[in-house]
Amino acid sequence: MAQQFEDKFCRKFSYLRLSVTDVCNFKCSYCLPNGYRPDGIKSRFLSLSEIERVVRVFADCGTSKVRITGGEPSMRKDFVDIIHSVAAIPRISKVATTTNGYRMEKQVEQWRNAGLTDINVSLDSLEPRMFRLITGENKFRQVMNGIEKAFEVGFAKVKVNVVLMKEHNAKELPLFLEWIKTRPIQLRFIELMQTGDMDEFFNKQHVSGASILNHLIANGWILENRSQNDGPAQVYSHPDYRGEIGLIMPYSKDFCSSCNRLRVSALGKLHMCLFGDYGVELRDLLQSDEQRDALVKRIRAQLNNKSVSHFLQDGHTGMTPHLASIGG
Ligand code: SAM
Ligand code: SF4
Repeated sequence: MAQQFEDKFCRKFSYLRLSVTDVCNFKCSYCLPNGYRPDGIKSRFLSLSEIERVVRVFADCGTSKVRITGGEPSMRKDFVDIIHSVAAIPRISKVATTTNGYRMEKQVEQWRNAGLTDINVSLDSLEPRMFRLITGENKFRQVMNGIEKAFEVGFAKVKVNVVLMKEHNAKELPLFLEWIKTRPIQLRFIELMQTGDMDEFFNKQHVSGASILNHLIANGWILENRSQNDGPAQVYSHPDYRGEIGLIMPYSKDFCSSCNRLRVSALGKLHMCLFGDYGVELRDLLQSDEQRDALVKRIRAQLNNKSVSHFLQDGHTGMTPHLASIGG
């Protein structure tokens, strides 16, 4: 194995978040409130062979976990082939996806058979009407059935992402806790992050995860140890619950100090951070296997530019218009 990707702050990168499409069929109020709009030029997302080349290079340089994301990754017709190809790459031991769950009920068995090891589903409310208000889609039952199906086909645990919103779901904590009492679900409350396209919504809906944290601590929840490939969530467990609670608080102090991930967008740009100012073109070096060394060199050169923090806390949102454009 080549030397592991590492930045000047000694952060080692073992986790790649790979976006495979910008397209999405939901209209989440904090992401694509007006739905996906093609940019006029027919976007050509990374092909299967480009995906294989980029993941192989990351795997050679210490990456062991890949999350396939988007937009909505399951909108890709070749999504199963993508999972299969990534899972077959030596040294990749975890292949995860983040999905809105729309296609899960029908397809999750194929995803698992192709080699998917971990699954995150976005579900911001347990009330069907609120779910519809947030996502613009009347698909609550379909997503819930998808989660049940994931257990049926053999996933031991499912992670569920909930973006915290003051007026929409902050009051649902008791409902969510009841839901995970008997189910092996890791519920991950994510603080709403401000992106370039969002201002008024953020000011109205942003709420800190601190009140949930206080509730957990006061009620006997215990912080679990973090392992190498874990994301930024602080995970809590409780002896009376089969499920767990994860808190993702990007506005908290030192959030970036344990950063272990790099990102590649669906158009083949390397992003050092979700909130960075620019992406670095990799695509011209993804056209043949002979370009491998040049690709490693270009990625390594960029690692020196990875910033110590996202500076979100100072109101900096970088160039990211919404997370669907870079794979949240
Ligand atoms: N379409 C898939 C989904 O929704 O799960 C994958 C892509 S989505 C961009 C990835 C995750 O980012 C989702 O869990 C979503 O809720 C979260 N997300 C999107 N915009 C966000 C924002 N502004 N703040 C916090 N989380 C956000
Ligand atoms: Fe689509 Fe995911 Fe963005 Fe919702 S959060 S609009 S499902 S990409």
